[in-house]
Amino acid sequence: MFLKNHKISKHLKVSLPDGKQEIVVGKGLSSWVIEKLASSDYSGFVIFCDHNIANIYQDFLAEIKNKLKPAEIILIKPTEANKSIEFLNLCLERCLKANLNRNGCLIAIGGGIVGDVTGFLASVYMRGIDMVFVPTTLMAQGDTIINKVAISYKLLKNVIGSFYSPRLTVCDANFLQSLPEKEISMGFSEIIKHALIASPKFTENLSKILLSSIFGWKNYDWDYIIYESLKIKSKLVEKDPYDKLGVHKGLSYGHTFANALEGLSSFNFRHGEAVALGMRISGEISRSLGILKEEYLKLQNSLIGAARLPLEFLHPANPDQIISYLKRDKISTNGQIDLVILKKIGEYEVIRNIDEKLVRQTLEKFLP
Ligand code: ADP
Ligand code: ZN
Repeated sequence: MFLKNHKISKHLKVSLPDGKQEIVVGKGLSSWVIEKLASSDYSGFVIFCDHNIANIYQDFLAEIKNKLKPAEIILIKPTEANKSIEFLNLCLERCLKANLNRNGCLIAIGGGIVGDVTGFLASVYMRGIDMVFVPTTLMAQGDTIINKVAISYKLLKNVIGSFYSPRLTVCDANFLQSLPEKEISMGFSEIIKHALIASPKFTENLSKILLSSIFGWKNYDWDYIIYESLKIKSKLVEKDPYDKLGVHKGLSYGHTFANALEGLSSFNFRHGEAVALGMRISGEISRSLGILKEEYLKLQNSLIGAARLPLEFLHPANPDQIISYLKRDKISTNGQIDLVILKKIGEYEVIRNIDEKLVRQTLEKFLP
């Protein structure tokens, strides 16, 4: 019902166990989505908006206030501390005070943290209500929420969660114009991951785009980049929505190391940086095992470098601590080190029980 508009450059329909998620990609879609929601049957709205977005896009916020009624707006600082039960309680109180019922809709406008908090609340509020997500970071667009939302408990990241998707996700590339360059790099990390695990063609095109210049990103063909990235993610989630068959595992490429690096740094390591370094280390291990050819490893690393993501540790780290973390990762069985590794561009595999010595030697290569 949402899809008749010329500004939509691309759309995806993701089939999930409890219904369809529509994802639209284009420019100038934020006003369009307000019109659509204003003429919908929803009984009311609670809007969760990143406080920086509310500052930068004041006209957009004013339009929301004017057109969506009844609506309550909650401004969110996107910190890990707000991805918590305590903050969820405050949001819950606001929804109840606003008399939001099961026919209402939650709207999230912001990056991954805003999306996750809103998504988790939507998944449990009155046993689940609709949500519309307007992601404003490259990370939250190119690796948008599909069937998984979670909040954290203390330092345990994403331990309270649901299988849930927004009903509609609106990726408006115009938001990326105000994004700091560093956030563009972060977002590329997951986009590069999607290309590497599933598509030689997208990898080749991404390489051309990135090598042409990271500084020219304001003029990139974002609709193409975001759509291709989400096509890969959505196909994998559709095949294995509850992450039971292992098909999904490719999405965890680089993430076993990333979880360790983020956890050990008390989340000072940004997710995008940690995933990039994780892919770099996993790639090196795959090459040492004689699986990944040198030319593919070079291609992977050139993409990571071109996106201005780290190819080595910038601060000292302790290999023993990293290794003990790897053994406790979700992917690991029997306390061994299991990793998703690249076989070639577009193909991955889970390798179990990787030699600890090899992992240590590889880590040491990249330490300062
Ligand atoms: P992620 O999607 O990677 O989780 P965050 O939600 O942590 O990203 O957002 C990263 C930073 O970028 C935050 O400071 C946030 O307020 C800011 N931000 C989000 N979207 C935009 C945007 N379109 N323009 C400028 N800053 C933004
Ligand atoms: Zn990730």
